Amino acid sequence: MGEFELIRRHFQREGHMARSPVVLGIGDDCALLQPRPGHQLAVSTDMLVQGRHFFADVDPQALGHKALAVNLSDLAAMGARPLGFTLALALPEASDAWLGAFAQGLFALADQHACPLVGGDTTRGPLNICITVMGEVRHGLSMQRSQAQVGDDLYLTGRTGEARLALELMRGTDWALLACGPHALAQHPGLRERLERPTPRLELGTLLAVLGSAVHAAIDLSDGLAGDLGHVLAASGVGAEIALAALPVAPALQPLPMTHRLDCLLNGGDDYELLFTAAPIARAAVKAAALASHTPVQRIGRISAAPGLRVLDASGHALAVSTRSFDHFA
Ligand code: ADP
Ligand code: MG
Repeated sequence: MGEFELIRRHFQREGHMARSPVVLGIGDDCALLQPRPGHQLAVSTDMLVQGRHFFADVDPQALGHKALAVNLSDLAAMGARPLGFTLALALPEASDAWLGAFAQGLFALADQHACPLVGGDTTRGPLNICITVMGEVRHGLSMQRSQAQVGDDLYLTGRTGEARLALELMRGTDWALLACGPHALAQHPGLRERLERPTPRLELGTLLAVLGSAVHAAIDLSDGLAGDLGHVLAASGVGAEIALAALPVAPALQPLPMTHRLDCLLNGGDDYELLFTAAPIARAAVKAAALASHTPVQRIGRISAAPGLRVLDASGHALAVSTRSFDHFA
């Protein structure tokens, strides 16, 4: 199978090029996209590298899902609606079985969010998947990291820490196996799902953006709650307090000793949940958006004038927690 046959067989789909924002899809030198009037183009790229972001034997269908999910999660964090995406793929070999499964996982999620594949590049090389996603957001309504305000409530979708625990269990890390037992992955099938098939919170993200001036900053959690919140705090020139008791804890994390549980919750990474801030006046509207999008949303703290992040225990004392987020070059 040659390069063009590979693209035609696995990635070019009839009927998916005529969709309205896509003026021209796969097959020419560029794709042409047309955002609606009054909207800005939102663009984000994320790369998944074998050995770095996934194991060599990962299920290709899950990999197809995750490669797109992590990109859609960035659109969700800005409040953007997907228009389309490109796929740059380096493959050691052109295996039909592998490509078929990869494309299945990829397109199942793409179709769910009406986000067509509009182009890409295909080359031989060590397995590497780079997706660029494009979306649209109404002028002035994007949720930027720099917009958190003192007095804002701090919200989290879903819960953090499960992807990290799944990773440690798959790696056979001592503290994880000791606390959770050798069968934890089998006992909690949801754990591995969280690592391999994250859910981008697009419906909620777009609903929050249209709430407008009361919803301020948002970010998606890829490198850990504390570290990613740190980006919001730095960009906004504010601090934050999180109430530990307000952080949802998955059943699978319960057996962990406190330090490791905290580390999973705050520094876990690969969560792909949304963290956002909103004025207290927006509480009812946030609740309504959560309900309408079937997204669990929890108020976990507030934005403060005092810089830095404080994690408070039940009696209001600040815990000494390490808040080092993931850094590829640290
Ligand atoms: P060019 O050499 O002009 O960059 P290519 O030969 O690389 O074009 O690709 C031909 C067409 O196929 C282009 O429209 C490109 O966007 C598309 N394409 C290439 N690889 C992929 C892929 N993995 N997924 C989707 N479209 C692809
Ligand atoms: Mg090319």
